[in-house]
Amino acid sequence: MFDKFHDECGVVAIYGHPEASKLAYLSLYSMQHRGQESAGICTSDGKHVHTHKSMGHVADIFTSSVLKALTGNLAIGHTRYSTAGDTVLLNAQPFSVACNKGKVAIAHNGNITNATELRADLGRRGAIFQASSDTEVVLHLMAHSSERTLAGALRDALLQLEGAFSLVFLAEDRIIVARDPHGFRPLAVGEMEVSGGRKCYVFASETCAFDLIGAVYLHDVDPGEMVIVGPEGMTRERYAPVQARAQCVFEHVYFARPDSLVFGRAVEESRENLGRLLARECPADADLVVPVPDSGVAAAIGYSDESGLPFRHALIRNHYVGRTFIEPSQAIRDFGVKLKLNPVRYLLQGKRVVLVDDSIVRGTTSRKIVRMVRQAGAREVHVRISCPPTISPCFYGVDTPTRSELIASNHNVEEIRRFVEADSVGYLSIGSLRKAVADENHEYCYACYTGDYPTELVNIEELIAARQKRK
Ligand code: AMP
Repeated sequence: MFDKFHDECGVVAIYGHPEASKLAYLSLYSMQHRGQESAGICTSDGKHVHTHKSMGHVADIFTSSVLKALTGNLAIGHTRYSTAGDTVLLNAQPFSVACNKGKVAIAHNGNITNATELRADLGRRGAIFQASSDTEVVLHLMAHSSERTLAGALRDALLQLEGAFSLVFLAEDRIIVARDPHGFRPLAVGEMEVSGGRKCYVFASETCAFDLIGAVYLHDVDPGEMVIVGPEGMTRERYAPVQARAQCVFEHVYFARPDSLVFGRAVEESRENLGRLLARECPADADLVVPVPDSGVAAAIGYSDESGLPFRHALIRNHYVGRTFIEPSQAIRDFGVKLKLNPVRYLLQGKRVVLVDDSIVRGTTSRKIVRMVRQAGAREVHVRISCPPTISPCFYGVDTPTRSELIASNHNVEEIRRFVEADSVGYLSIGSLRKAVADENHEYCYACYTGDYPTELVNIEELIAARQKRK
């Protein structure tokens, strides 16, 4: 059984740039929000594959001497988030191996839901695993494939996977990327010109990476598509039959950066829409609209626009909270939240406040924030959440706790209101969420709000047990 999910990651791939490792580094830097536990880059100089990965933040891991050693025109990179106990370097990505298909490396965003079965089966056939991650399974499936070409072997492997995966793959002379047939997790394609008019291709979870490195967004990798870039140029191939799309709506609600295009759509636009629709569905008799930064900002702007209530940054976030800080020995109440957020008393004193956030998960942080706003002098606090109640865990790559820990799975809105100590709580409806992302064609996954999973989860008991184990 896996004790590790590959949650909330960012991936990047660069083909055809003399400073491929630096571009991968910058891309990961811009996608740091997708994972802060570990990061890694693999490059190929045509003969050798070089790897560096470590625990920690991108900017700390990749010093100039590290990047200098990562030579070659091809690179893939990964940044990983985890809250699990086994936060070990062994599970950091990319994974690189030398196998019968050559020297290869892989990085993955998503969660392969049948990895347990695949791993057991591979184990019976003699495969030896280095880590507890589901990503390594893909390399073993590839190595076991009877297909001669790399692309053929990878196709073989991908067709055996279930669940969510946006994969980037590096070989000595080529980059291959792929998305699962439902397209749960994003993966965008961009290009940039290198000196001499040659083209460099880039792939990233979010287009904010393209903005930083000066690449132009072309299109997404389609669900069920594999894109190969090698000396012969770029080819696109559908490796799996068309299936119903199930793009993760939570990318638009919370996860992605608002300056990114995700699934070809501006995240900022979705979030402002969420806020506008929330103001219509859950109005409040109040004096100002305050976002919980940063996740609630765009929705709060939409809420303020629609309601006509003024928008104020009345909670200030310290962006420089590091991993280590010195806590006073005398316990300070709600220290963790205070470290990150501080209220602006001047704005809140005597006011009726609409507090906008993207989601209530367990409700514990939300309660601390409500208390904080009240202690700063607010007369009333009306919590508004820019999505429906989160009632079901995600098995497709977002880190949500088990169902029993999700406050909305076993409490109604009034009970949640009492728990978070707010004057009122309002959630957006699923219909409005759909509208906010313009999902006319039913192309998004809403499983965390509905409990309807778009794929069959054969080993759901094990998936749940793995979730429980990691907490
Ligand atoms: P809670 O107190 O558990 O209700 O936490 C709510 C806060 O967690 C909100 O401010 C959200 O922005 C944030 N949040 C929601 N989903 C996630 C997630 N998957 N990973 C990390 N933070 C999240």
